[in-house]
Parts: sequence; C-alpha cells; structure tokens
Amino acid sequence: HADTAMYRAKETGKARCVVYNHEKFTQPEHDVSMEAAMFQAVRDGEFLLHYQPIVDARSRQIMGFEALMRWSRPGQGLVSPAQFIPMAESNGLINLLGAWALKAACVQIRRFEEVARRPLYVSVNVSPRQFRNDQFLDIMDEAMQLSGLSGEQLLLEITEGILMSDPEHAEALLTAMTSRNVRIAIDDFGTGYSSLAYLKRFPIATLKIDRAFIKDLPSSVKDVAICNVVLSLASHLNLNTVAEGVENQEQLDFLAAHGCGLIQGYHTGRPLVPDEIIALLKAEQASPALTAAQ
Ligand code: C2E
Ligand code: MG
Ligand code: MG
Ligand code: MG
Repeated sequence: HADTAMYRAKETGKARCVVYNHEKFTQPEHDVSMEAAMFQAVRDGEFLLHYQPIVDARSRQIMGFEALMRWSRPGQGLVSPAQFIPMAESNGLINLLGAWALKAACVQIRRFEEVARRPLYVSVNVSPRQFRNDQFLDIMDEAMQLSGLSGEQLLLEITEGILMSDPEHAEALLTAMTSRNVRIAIDDFGTGYSSLAYLKRFPIATLKIDRAFIKDLPSSVKDVAICNVVLSLASHLNLNTVAEGVENQEQLDFLAAHGCGLIQGYHTGRPLVPDEIIALLKAEQASPALTAAQ
C-alpha cells in the first residue's frame, strides 16, 4: 500500500501527497497487520499473564490475585489488553487466548500456594464471547483438573451486560458453575447498563466496584454516596466486595471503614510477573507483617 501511495503521489507530481496518501493507505492496513501478528503471537507464545494482589482491607494480607493478560510484542514492549482484547473478541481469538489464560492462571496459583503455604484464589476475566462459547464449561473443568485447584478458589469475572443479553444461557451456565463451587464476580460494577434484577436472579458472589467510583474518594460526595450504597447492598445480599483501582491510603481507609472486604490497586500491589509475586510471598513468609505495598 505504501508503494501504491508513493506511485500515485509521483503521478500527481505533488510531493505533499506522499505523506497524506501514506497515512491514508496505511491506517486500515495497520489493524490488519496487528490481527495477523496476533495469530502468529498465539503460535509463538507471546502472550503472558501478570498477577495483581487482592488484599484484605483490614489485615492487608494477600487473599488472591487477578490474572491480567499482556502481549509481549517483539520490538514493541508490552501491549495493553485494552488494545488487543477488543480485537480478539471480534475475530474470535479470545476463545483460544481465554482458554489458555484460564488454564495458565489455575496452574500458576497452585505454585503461589506452595510458596505462601495457604490457600489463595485466582480471579480470571471472561469475555462475552467466551461466556457464549459451548465449550466454556469443558475448558473450565479441564483447567481445574489440570491444576488441581478447587472450585472455591476460582472466581470468574464477567460484566453486567453478559448476564442480561441471554439470561437463559447465563442461568444454565451459572448453575453449572455453582455446582462446582466456582464463583462469579461482577467486574466494573456500576458502569454497565444494569438493572439490579440480575442480582436477584443469578448466583453472584462478588461485586467489583469500578475504579471510576473509587478514584475521587473520599473527597467526592457523590462517590462516597455511591460506594456506601453499593457496600450496603452487598452486605445485605451477602456478597463480597472488591474495590478496584485503590491508589492511596485515604481511599483504603475509607473503604475499610465502610465495610469493603477486599482491595485491589496500585497502593496495595501492582500487576506483576509470577517471579515477582513469588518474591512477594516469600517476603511475606519471612515477615508476616510485610504487605504488598511495603
Ligand atoms: P479489569 O478486569 O477491570 O482489570 C483491572 C484493570 O485495572 C487492569 O488493567 C489493572 O492493571 C488496572 N488497575 C489495577 N489497579 C489499578 C490502579 O490502582 N490504578 C489504575 N489506574 N489502574 C489499575 P489492564 O491490566 O490494563 O486490563 C484492562 C482490561 O482488559 C481488564 O479490566 C479486563 O477487562 C481486560 N482483560 C485483561 N486481561 C484479560 C483476560 O485475560 N481476558 C479478558 N477477557 N479480558 C482481560
Ligand atoms: Mg477484571
Ligand atoms: Mg475490573
Ligand atoms: Mg475495569
């Protein structure tokens, strides 16, 4: 395409067109090449998982981790999931990637447990397309068999929209998960087009309060009100709560004082590679008072 652009620019005799045409022609091509690179990256094993600690709001002990996907693109560093997950979702590659992530995360948690010498849980994101995939239950069973992880140690994160788009399918799938003791978390709670009806209908275990409502705590009167209502709702419905994106002590203090059970954010631990998590757990072993942030 670049060659074609160059040729046309020469043809018209305007040097300035080279730049203009070049951009115009290569813009859509960029996505195509990213897509091609992605298929190759799956084959070449360029995807990896980072793990972010999820800690008890009061004791700050690490209770589990969220597995977060990264693409280590040669020459380009780490690519954010915000860039490649939507593409993987639209081209279907998410099924392959998601299955890999689920198995890898379950196996990894068992290794973390060996170091920590106590049970830990893992939170894995499940996209709409994976949730709709007929093979998802089998993949989940395989991940648990492969790793030896028990159901209650696996938390699957889905968004509000997934449940409401096909409630019958969701109900069947969630019932099957519940029978294996696998738990469901609502990710980014409060940001979707949500009614509260699904909290009544479906067996939800955990609400993850989106960072949008945490960011301006405790100075924003509105966010204080929203967080209080969500925490109260969760408490009355017997749901666990995780606050996402906690970046400072003031936010943590507010959340702990208002009954939020678990904290996930840069303040208590960034997403890290497995070796770094192992170092963290070893440090915790050596000195139990030491937490992720120290
Ligand atoms: P999410 O599931 O809501 O994950 C939380 C995001 O918040 C992560 O971004 C995490 O790195 C970031 N985060 C954590 N603590 C803080 C904080 O204190 N401050 C700020 N500013 N950000 C914080 P990340 O890793 O870039 O992932 C973005 C999204 O990509 C995830 O949002 C999730 O929707 C999706 N994603 C990541 N991994 C997977 C995966 O394996 N499968 C699927 N389907 N989606 C994934
Ligand atoms: Mg998540
Ligand atoms: Mg989230
Ligand atoms: Mg989010």
